[in-house]
Amino acid sequence: MLLGAIADDLTGATDLALMLSREGMRTIQTIGIPKAELDLKDVDAVVVALKSRTNPAGDAVAMSLEALAFLRDVGAQQFLFKYCSTFDSSPAGNIGPVTEALMQALGTGLTIVCPAFPANGRTIYKGHLFVGDQLLSDSPMRNHPLTPMTDSSLVRLMAGQSQLRVGLVTRETVVQGPSAVAQAFELAREKGEQALVVDALTDADLRIIGEAAAGMVLITGGSGIALGLPENFRRAGLLRPAGEEVVFSAPAGRSMILAGSCSDATRGQIKAAIAAGIPALKLDPLAIAEGRLRVEEALIWALAQSAGVPLIYSSAEPDEVKAAQAALGRERAGSLIEHFLAEMALGLRASGVRRLIVAGGETSGAVVGALAPDALFIGPEIDPGVPWTLTLGQTEPMALALKSGNFGAPDFFLKAWDLLP
Ligand code: ADP
Repeated sequence: MLLGAIADDLTGATDLALMLSREGMRTIQTIGIPKAELDLKDVDAVVVALKSRTNPAGDAVAMSLEALAFLRDVGAQQFLFKYCSTFDSSPAGNIGPVTEALMQALGTGLTIVCPAFPANGRTIYKGHLFVGDQLLSDSPMRNHPLTPMTDSSLVRLMAGQSQLRVGLVTRETVVQGPSAVAQAFELAREKGEQALVVDALTDADLRIIGEAAAGMVLITGGSGIALGLPENFRRAGLLRPAGEEVVFSAPAGRSMILAGSCSDATRGQIKAAIAAGIPALKLDPLAIAEGRLRVEEALIWALAQSAGVPLIYSSAEPDEVKAAQAALGRERAGSLIEHFLAEMALGLRASGVRRLIVAGGETSGAVVGALAPDALFIGPEIDPGVPWTLTLGQTEPMALALKSGNFGAPDFFLKAWDLLP
């Protein structure tokens, strides 16, 4: 085990895990702190997904310290605290307090603060965070319902959220390369600075910063800051060469698709799959609510299909969704279907299904909650942001692809299987 990461939300954790996996690290993602012991023999990086972004700061600190203790226990050599690339936080935290607590627990006097994610338009210049062409404070993030961001200065934000002495390493230094940046880190340490905001406009900048941070015990930032870290381990002879494929073996068994997302992309994927001839069962929320359609019946249908990978979906056009919500209430309609699909997943697993695609963020959350794996091993990427994963810590492991509603190409449900040996 080389790298231990703590992510403050689930999708951010997947982002980071994918980034590390793409750079050649065998990576697993845990959902919270795993209760059981995990076999980490061939694992290079562990990303603990917390749900701590908008908790009270004290809770977020306690959860993060618990995650840190777990990662230290399993032998991580370097630690990464991953937060959102738009620095989602309130004046009270949680990025500042968690960083400070992690530094203290690790006994380290210096870390960096670098949420830049150039591929998604998040860049840092002179310590100010930009979202596309706008300062963070001019971007739609200023109206975020939970964490409105009205200041773009990462130096001010970090200083306001913690007792740490905050410094800045500007782009002028970053472009001079890893040794100039490492030297800037040393100078800052001598001046007594503890948290250094580092400018980054490109992936090349992030790789330079990553290289300069090779000896830093704790790094903080977005998933982009992980870009340069695997190469450090490689240089130190601790990680296999780049380009050597991460082995992913999916368990043998039947395949199935569950879709609860009503997004345009998912509806398009369903149309394409049906047009290609796969058997499909559409769930009617009213029939479920009135007891006219039960999980057992849907299971019997699914298991009786012999041609193609069956699709069970509740995904509907906006007017159908509105009608269901008017009849049942928005919350109830959503939770009825989530619960139905989660029960389906359990039933399918019990019936020998070992390869499952789930479409929808909340839907995936409900299904993973029901299947309750200790962790997910990150496998090949089907489309940007959506990997195949393997459930760990279970007697009946499954290959799972958890697709956020809007992700994936139109042929997602058809081509995903080609990546499973
Ligand atoms: P996405 O990733 O596209 O946002 P989610 O799974 O996160 O998808 O959210 C979709 C929500 O809509 C879920 O709560 C789901 O249960 C609900 N839903 C799915 N189908 C219907 C439907 N036909 N009518 C009403 N709500 C639905």
